[in-house]
Amino acid sequence: MIPPIASNFVAGETPEAALAHVEGLNDRGVAGILNLLGEHYEERPPADADADAYVDLVEAIAERGVDACVSVKSSQIGLDVGDDVFEENLARIVEAANAPAATGSDGTGTFVWIDMEDHETTDVTLDAFERHAVETDGNVGVCVQANLKRTREDLERLADLPGKVRLVKGAYDEPAEISYKKKARVDESYRNCLAYMFEAFDDGVAVGSHDPAMIEYATELYAEHGTPYEVQMLTGVRESAQFELAAEDDVTVYQYIPYGSKWFSYFYRRIRERKSNALFALRAVVGS
Ligand code: FAD
Repeated sequence: MIPPIASNFVAGETPEAALAHVEGLNDRGVAGILNLLGEHYEERPPADADADAYVDLVEAIAERGVDACVSVKSSQIGLDVGDDVFEENLARIVEAANAPAATGSDGTGTFVWIDMEDHETTDVTLDAFERHAVETDGNVGVCVQANLKRTREDLERLADLPGKVRLVKGAYDEPAEISYKKKARVDESYRNCLAYMFEAFDDGVAVGSHDPAMIEYATELYAEHGTPYEVQMLTGVRESAQFELAAEDDVTVYQYIPYGSKWFSYFYRRIRERKSNALFALRAVVGS
């Protein structure tokens, strides 16, 4: 069982718990992005098992009629085993997400996001996204990272494709030759990339950030260009801001919802990256 201090950041251990969490969010105007926790499998069986779980999940989302999509990690579905394993499992998930069993009353399948991992995975991830974006006419999305120097150029390639792109600052400690290391430089890159996306992307922009300054900047860019956009934030982080934003007319809000039995390392990461999360956890322990 997930202890109460961790359940702030993780929706539960089972898909049922995660879907119930989505229902609660939908009632407050926030949509869900479900992520089964797991990454860096070096053997094929766990990668195949997680891909199977996503196939079941995209169908469960349609069956339950909730406003939700999924987000998968490439190393979770086999990239460390081989490019072919990753591509096979991703194709299986995307196919299932667009099959009749996962098609909602609006006639569209379940949307599939591909998270971005470290820089060695960027090319294979973007190539896979491109293939599926074309094949599904845009029912997939990919994440790109503002801390990588290459990203501004990658966006030019992505602008011509159907599908959605989520811009994040980047969670991986990358080599200095290929990445911006200083926070101010990453923020500047984020702003540049965001400005380009609002200008050049027809299918909308996904702002994957908790940063009030970036969200404010997206609001200004929307006022200038009118490009549809969504804000995506994690479960347990600035949730009151998520609900406040969702009450506005011009923006769609998604909560990225991790769930599953491998919750401990994810929870530990959230605690390490931010003092306020650690204080929250401490208060929960002291208060319980
Ligand atoms: P930061 O630059 O960390 O912080 C800026 C400001 O935001 C802070 O000063 C504060 O005002 C506010 N803030 C930030 N965190 C908190 C908090 N915990 N509580 C209160 N206020 C806070 N990274 C990847 O590399 N690949 C991915 O696929 C990926 N997917 C993501 C999906 C989503 C939906 C999100 C939200 C993030 C994802 N990330 C991913 C992580 C991302 O790269 C960043 O590491 C992470 O979001 C921190 O950057 P930030 O923009 O949120 O804000």
